[in-house]
Amino acid sequence: MRGSENVTDCLFCKIVSGEVPSNKVLETDDVLAFHDIRPQAPVHVLVIPKKHIPSAHHIEASDAAALLHIHEAAQKVAEELGIAENGYRLVTNIGFHGQQTVAHLHYHVLGGRQLQWPPG
Ligand code: C5P
Repeated sequence: MRGSENVTDCLFCKIVSGEVPSNKVLETDDVLAFHDIRPQAPVHVLVIPKKHIPSAHHIEASDAAALLHIHEAAQKVAEELGIAENGYRLVTNIGFHGQQTVAHLHYHVLGGRQLQWPPG
């Protein structure tokens, strides 16, 4: 599967480095969470590993700790932004048919309203 092999061109790597600004919610040594610039729900936060991983299809065993930290960060975001009690969606898009538009692994944390399923 195609990914953004050129890390220097990766938008989310630039957000990690601070070259591109973001509205940060949470930051740890290996994870960053920031508000999506085009929110699709009252709460729409992206949780990303600082390491460049093109998509969930490219995760390897050595990424296990970072993945746990992503899930811990998503839980914290949901708690801090008040959507944990009613529930929320944690989703990652993969590739062209999956509608992935930024080739750096990211999980959408969506909540604050009743979400629909299936997503289409
Ligand atoms: O799953 P997908 O790859 O489409 O998600 C990328 C997300 O990144 C979009 O929801 C888009 O609004 C968001 N984005 C952002 N800041 C940017 C560029 C894109 O929050 N500078």
